[in-house]
This record gives sequence, C-alpha cells and structure tokens, in this order.
Amino acid sequence: MSRRINIAIDGPASSGKSTTAKLAAEKLGYIYIDTGAMYRAATLAVNDEGVDINDEQAVTSCINNHRISISIKEKQQRTYLDDQDVTDQLRTPQINKTISVISSYKEVRKAMVEQQRQLAEKGGVIMDGRDIGTVVLPDAELKVFMIASLEERAKRRFIELEAQGIRQTLEEVKEDIRKRDRIDSSRSLAPLKKAEGAKELDTTGLTIEEQLKIILDWVDIAISEKKRC
Ligand code: C5P
Repeated sequence: MSRRINIAIDGPASSGKSTTAKLAAEKLGYIYIDTGAMYRAATLAVNDEGVDINDEQAVTSCINNHRISISIKEKQQRTYLDDQDVTDQLRTPQINKTISVISSYKEVRKAMVEQQRQLAEKGGVIMDGRDIGTVVLPDAELKVFMIASLEERAKRRFIELEAQGIRQTLEEVKEDIRKRDRIDSSRSLAPLKKAEGAKELDTTGLTIEEQLKIILDWVDIAISEKKRC
C-alpha cells in the first residue's frame, strides 16, 4: 500500500487545475479540495448583502458573521454558507468579477487557510487554489504550478459558462480572466506564484488524459521519494 502524500496545485484561472485534480484524486483514492469554492462562498455572502467590496472592514465583518465550510459527499465537494448548500451558485460571472478583491483581504484569508490546513492533516489530499504550495501546504510532497495560454483558458471558461446557460462573449470572458489573474498575482498577501520546488505544467494544447498522466507520474515519483526518506 503506497503512502498517502499531499498534493498542492496552484495556477491562474482555467489552467486545468480542478479537472486534472479531480481525476487524479479519483484514480488515487485521495480527497480533492477546491479552495476557490470557499472564497466563492464568501463572495456570494458579500454580494447578496450588497456590501461595498472596497470597504475591507465591512467585507471582513460580513464574512465573520457567516460560517463557510465544505464537506465531501459521495466523493464530491459540497460548499456551505452557514447551513445552506451553495455549491451550485458559485461559478457565476458576478462572483468572478468581485472575488479577487474580496480574497485579497487578510482576515478573509486567515480563516480559510486554517480550515484548509486542517483538512490536509491526515494526508491523501489534492488541494487546488492560488496559495496552496506557497502558504497553505508548503510541505506538500508534490507541488504543481499549472499554466496555459490566456486564449485557451478563455475558451475553456467560455464553454463551461455556455454549458451552465450563462451568456458572455469570448472577449468578456477573456477580460474577466485577465483582470482576475492580475489582481491575484499582484496582491501583497499570498499572491499567485510558483512555489519553491513546484513542477510547472503548461496545459496549452494538452488533452485531459495527457495532463492526468503527467500528474500521476509525478505522484509516483513523489511517493517513492517519500519512501526513501
Ligand atoms: O479557483 P477559482 O477560479 O475558483 O478561484 C476563484 C478566486 O478565488 C481566485 O481568482 C482567487 O481570487 C481566489 N482564490 C484565492 N486563493 C485560493 C483559491 C482561490 O485567493 N487558494
């Protein structure tokens, strides 16, 4: 029986993190944790209450009045805002437009990071986000930084939104992604960047099967390195 490691996957929006991580988790019998969903639930609360997103104190106090949590049901992550399952309300253009400002605030991040670390305590977790390899799980046995061209990422997001019945032009989707990446990468706290020791995977032009194979090969290497220690 192989040892259960933790795997941290970071990268910009629509770089292929969640699709690959979900499939890898299934293959390995690991738990997949989508940390973006937690920031999305926080953003949902802020948007619903009409809080000014530029007022850090008001945003923080709104989020402190709520409990954001996740649970794994039938191998799928469900995300809760207080006792309400909000999983299916999180991937909207409205949330995409405001989330990066909200998730740049210190107190917002603090509570999330604590919960995420607890979820990974026993190992066997594949977690994706922006600061997993740098801040949340810097000791993860495998760290991956996933990238892809803006063109390809916008196309992927466009198709995803279309499937949800959400209409946005490809140009609008591209602009949203570009803006979100800029804020996520330039914020002073836990910016999106490649963690020390992370392996870089450019998914431009790769099929999902190819991405999965690369990750699973890296997992094998990380597990054998751990055994040797
Ligand atoms: O991964 P996803 O696209 O759902 O993330 C949405 C947003 O949540 C990101 O653009 C980023 O602003 C924020 N986020 C973050 N840290 C994480 C995960 C997501 O700041 N670990």
